[in-house]
Amino acid sequence: MSKYPKLFIPGPTHVSDDILELLSTEQIGHRTPEISELIGSIISDVKNVLYTDNNIYLVSHAATGLWEMGTKNSVSKGVLHCSNGAFSSKWALSSEKNGFYTDNIEYEWGKGVNAEDIDKKLSTGKFDVLAMVHNETSTGVMSNLESISELLKNKYPDVIWLVDAVSSMAGIKIDVDSLGIDFLLSSTQKAWGLPAGFSICAVSDKIIDKSLSIPNKGYFLDIQVYEKYYKKLQTPTTPSLPHMFALRKVLDNINSEGLDNRWKRHIQMSEFTRNWALNHGQQLFPEKGCESYTLTCIKNIKNWDINSIYEKLLSKGYRMDRGYGNLKGKVFRIPHMGNIYMDDLKEYLTIMDEVICQ
Ligand code: PLP
Repeated sequence: MSKYPKLFIPGPTHVSDDILELLSTEQIGHRTPEISELIGSIISDVKNVLYTDNNIYLVSHAATGLWEMGTKNSVSKGVLHCSNGAFSSKWALSSEKNGFYTDNIEYEWGKGVNAEDIDKKLSTGKFDVLAMVHNETSTGVMSNLESISELLKNKYPDVIWLVDAVSSMAGIKIDVDSLGIDFLLSSTQKAWGLPAGFSICAVSDKIIDKSLSIPNKGYFLDIQVYEKYYKKLQTPTTPSLPHMFALRKVLDNINSEGLDNRWKRHIQMSEFTRNWALNHGQQLFPEKGCESYTLTCIKNIKNWDINSIYEKLLSKGYRMDRGYGNLKGKVFRIPHMGNIYMDDLKEYLTIMDEVICQ
């Protein structure tokens, strides 16, 4: 057994030994041909994972900073947020604190974001930016991007679309170019299966152009500063090289697995987990049709003693999730993403079965 329990929380997720090894690769200079070669190869493979020709920024801080990169470089009239859980609500709060004109479609937790609601708000003409979370980690809800993409293409082609894919990027197929997402962001501690503290975003020409006309963006999150260094396959500030070497390894693993197999694996693990929950008489927390492929949020209608299960699993070397924020104790979440394969999931659920029966 390793020093720490194996993580079965929806982030940070389990990092496998082959990836951990790459985090101690020797360092290279950040203004050298070596770094440009590394960044170039990463960018090329990330573009494949996201089905995009958009620019890919590699960012050495948490995804929360990218919420602000997205809004600071795009909002001139106002930003419409869609809040259906803890992270989408925090993003709306970040926009308020930045002083943007902000409105928020507030959903009951467990519900998916809906194109008709967005249409009603955007038709007021008060917003030039739409911000939403694809996969709400707090509730296990995955919203339908296709219907929102159709709406924006047909009725609001000038609106900039910002999408948080923190717990879906690299675990769920997101066809950025055909959907027309202008700014897709994620950090690496979820479906990428890397440690936290590093992020990735895909940035369209539309938001790059819009950014030119926005004053007072500051320096650190200015897309124009990123662009200057992107052209040289560098980053504006000294990057986290361990993350980059390990990301290179993750991309090698993704290439070996094959993208279609990767998406299929995540769907199969989500189906397996949902069936496990339902066969135990529990319910799924998300509304039907919005269940995530990367984590399953289970409504504890059987009133299992979650704290006791948690302690027992811990004694066996597994760190369980007990629900996020207001949902603590009422739900629990099972992650199945990144370096978790079907065998790991079955192992975890088998031990959970033993523990529940004790
Ligand atoms: N968005 C979502 C959907 C998340 O799940 C999280 C973290 O769990 C975040 C944003 C924040 O990510 P970070 O901690 O990398 O800033």
